[in-house]
Amino acid sequence: MKVPVVVVGAGPTGLAAATLLARYGVECVVLERWESVFPQPRAVHLDDEVYRILGRLGLAGEFAAISWHCHGLRLLDPDLRVLAEFRRAPDTGRHGYPRANMFDQPDLERILRAGLEATRTATLRSNAEVTGIVQGGVGPVRVEVTDRVTGECETIHADYVLGCDGANSLTRKAIGAAMTDLKFDQRWLVVDIATTADLGEWEGVHQVCDPGRAATYMRIGKTRYRWEFRLLPGENGGDFHDRDRLHRLIGPWTGEIPADELEVVRVAEYTFRAQVADRWRDRRVFLLGDAAHLTPPFVGQGMGAGLRDAVNLAWKLAGVLGGTLPEQALDTYEAERKPHARAMIRMAKLIGTAMTEGGRLGELLRRVLAPRLALFPGLSVHVLDSETPPLRRSGLVVRPRLRRTLAGRLCPNALLDDGRRLDDVAAGRFAVVTAIAPTEAERAAVEEYGAVLVTTRRSDELHHWLRAGRTRAAVIRPDGTVLSTSNSLSRLCLSLPRFTVRSNVAPTP
Ligand SMILES: Cc1cc2nc3c(=O)[nH]c(=O)nc-3n(C[C@H](O)[C@H](O)[C@H](O)COP(=O)(O)OP(=O)(O)OC[C@H]3O[C@@H](n4cnc5c(N)ncnc54)[C@H](O)[C@@H]3O)c2cc1C
Repeated sequence: MKVPVVVVGAGPTGLAAATLLARYGVECVVLERWESVFPQPRAVHLDDEVYRILGRLGLAGEFAAISWHCHGLRLLDPDLRVLAEFRRAPDTGRHGYPRANMFDQPDLERILRAGLEATRTATLRSNAEVTGIVQGGVGPVRVEVTDRVTGECETIHADYVLGCDGANSLTRKAIGAAMTDLKFDQRWLVVDIATTADLGEWEGVHQVCDPGRAATYMRIGKTRYRWEFRLLPGENGGDFHDRDRLHRLIGPWTGEIPADELEVVRVAEYTFRAQVADRWRDRRVFLLGDAAHLTPPFVGQGMGAGLRDAVNLAWKLAGVLGGTLPEQALDTYEAERKPHARAMIRMAKLIGTAMTEGGRLGELLRRVLAPRLALFPGLSVHVLDSETPPLRRSGLVVRPRLRRTLAGRLCPNALLDDGRRLDDVAAGRFAVVTAIAPTEAERAAVEEYGAVLVTTRRSDELHHWLRAGRTRAAVIRPDGTVLSTSNSLSRLCLSLPRFTVRSNVAPTP
């Protein structure tokens, strides 16, 4: 069998990558070792940037139906007194979606699977364990796969392989990559409870900043609640299978609710780590998601990073396979994504340290700094702002070294004049956003290369965004990232042909 792309692993990253590729008309096979969705709840939060990716997958409505608005963040002292509170309104942010959303990972994986099936271009094969990935000097990559039910072995030949096979990635080993340790290693207990009883708690994330026992509590759905507790030396996850011990731990939140009204969905020990693979690619084989990076979950961004990898690579790969982008476009994947993933891991480590650090530094962070954060509107806006760092310079991010620029940042998914959002109009293609009225020749150039032209008006969001970025026009990539900016539309149009990709997705009418 020969396919353009094999995706190893049907976790959130693999499902997203395959669906995006399929929406560009690229045929791919997803190989997943297990029969169905992995049932253990893990990720519970995603931000509006990641929600926007679900929108690109055509799954925003489905996600809205399974997610829960998060009211913000409270930092609590060891006696659960509020040190600081940062409220988040349920309105939509610059990406057109709510900024903090709670959910249950198996529910999300179910809608991702349904979205993949609906494409008909991608195939998911369950019980298919990849046992080897071999790359010769030329020709396709050989993927060895064993059917876990029949025991039959098969070789699939692929032009490209995407290793989305999680933390213990076989793909990573196959390309000789290794994880670099970013020095974070803590054991935590993760508790998921289902109940119809009302806990009566504030419906945001509660971070208990206690070097004695740091903890996180949050409501993640109508009847679902999550706690995470740092394990103390000598404790292990198994100790809390004892009901009394578990109920003593969650008692401050569950109060008088009888234990038999609290269904334990699971109690498990996790070691939270911070690691990044030393390289994310060997020729035609790429690493994405947890296979490429691991973060402690304190800012709820691990799965989001995998979805960001998928949206970054899919259009480039589709362009290369379709012959409209040069092979070198693929070099930009690691160059752009690795520094971004590292920056998000650094942020997660910082929050983790603030929650758990003992001594004078921890005391200073918690007792002095935290209560005062909310007094400075600028600072609290920063705490709540879900904007992530811009992508670094690459062949597909044209950033001058010394000038502030929009290049590398995400363009807002703004509402346009006709009531549609930018992403619905661009539908996976390049867009040129301009405050300069285009000439006929410029219009024709944009159209000829399959890009979308969006002309702003003085009062609209994109006009203000360009002005704030001190420019008059920008090329937006299919993943929403600004490729380049200019005050000359004709100069921008000149750069367009080299970067075109054609999408199969129909723009929203
Ligand atoms: C307690 C906890 C809380 C978290 N909270 C958040 C959060 O709030 N927000 C967030 O964004 N992230 C969070 N995360 C992280 C998130 O769960 C992971 O980052 C995410 O699951 C990674 O997705 P993935 O698809 O890259 O890998 P995985 O989900 O691990 O999927 C990999 C898939 O590959 C398959 N596979 C592996 N090897 C093979 C093989 N050889 N052949 C075939 N198939 C194979 C596996 O069966 C699996 O289905 C949390 C994690 C934990 C543990």
